[in-house]
Amino acid sequence: MKKHMGCPGWLGLTDDRTEFIFIPERAAIVKRIFEMSASGLGGYTIAKKLNASGVPGFGSSGRWDQSTIHNMLRSRATLGEYQKKRKVNGKEMPFGKPVLGYYPAVIDEVLFQAAQQARVENLASGRGRKGNDIANLFDGMATCRYCKGPVRFHSNGNAKSLVCSSVLERQGCHRYRWTYRDFELSFLALARGSADSKLVELIENVEAASEAGKYERRIELMLHLRETVSSLRVAMAGSEPPMNSPPAPIARDNPKRFFEVTFGDSSPVAGVPLPPPSADTGIRLDEGLLSKRLNLSPRQAALVASLVAGRSLAQTAEHLEMALSTARWHLRTVFERTKTHSQDDLTDLACTTFKRLKASQE
Ligand SMILES: [Zn+2]
Repeated sequence: MKKHMGCPGWLGLTDDRTEFIFIPERAAIVKRIFEMSASGLGGYTIAKKLNASGVPGFGSSGRWDQSTIHNMLRSRATLGEYQKKRKVNGKEMPFGKPVLGYYPAVIDEVLFQAAQQARVENLASGRGRKGNDIANLFDGMATCRYCKGPVRFHSNGNAKSLVCSSVLERQGCHRYRWTYRDFELSFLALARGSADSKLVELIENVEAASEAGKYERRIELMLHLRETVSSLRVAMAGSEPPMNSPPAPIARDNPKRFFEVTFGDSSPVAGVPLPPPSADTGIRLDEGLLSKRLNLSPRQAALVASLVAGRSLAQTAEHLEMALSTARWHLRTVFERTKTHSQDDLTDLACTTFKRLKASQE
């Protein structure tokens, strides 16, 4: 039987293409990587050691990196198994049962399992982290619904968001970003309702994990997502995005944003942001009276009433359809006029003023 190319990097084919054969020096490297892993070294350290000692990588770059090491350590092709794959939405997905003994085994099951065990322990202890925390569960998975470009994780201080790569490279597309935390919560809420019980279990594990165990749980979830999500398209600005030309600033969290995710070969499902937790205080102050009593403009009074009702300043800006910077400017003016110094002081003052007013009327 003729065998096809595209085999693991440590194997070659005989001239008549009927048998796989080891590339001896590469087979030795694979074995060494498993032994290093079994001895407790993490993927990052293994890659660093191989590069430092001049061991050539199997890829075109000739270098080793953490993800190549992790992929190899997880690959059952090292045991001789062949897993048929097919493309679902342009992504390779496992298909059918693995064929045992298809390749010559480069290591045995005992070493494979020892490496798996050590890898999990290594991740759990945090030694495998080395500044490579799993911040973005969707790395390499999400694409832009408009330009089909990859969606990147963009960190600007504490503001972590997903942004279309074309936007980051200033090549156009729609200049919106999606706050990462908001995206992840929305995605996981949708995924929890999926028919994939393994996925649901992994999400619950992450939610229940202690701080120390979170990293490992997130890795397990990310690896599973990589296997099951065949497409994840993000529409940062909704289905009918407004025209906005570069170099406009990148606006945050368009209210019409959504994503479409496909698990395996099922139909795509759409996900929308979760509604923000309601902090409604139930207190409604008359804006006209507020304006008179505290000597505020109608816009300033509306802003104070909105804060008293429980909205944050950002939600207030959205509610009053003003830019957040304008809302901040109004707030500063209101602080000056009312001689208050914080939002809490201000809402307290507004409420006590009304209570006094009501008392004097009764
Ligand atoms: Zn785009």
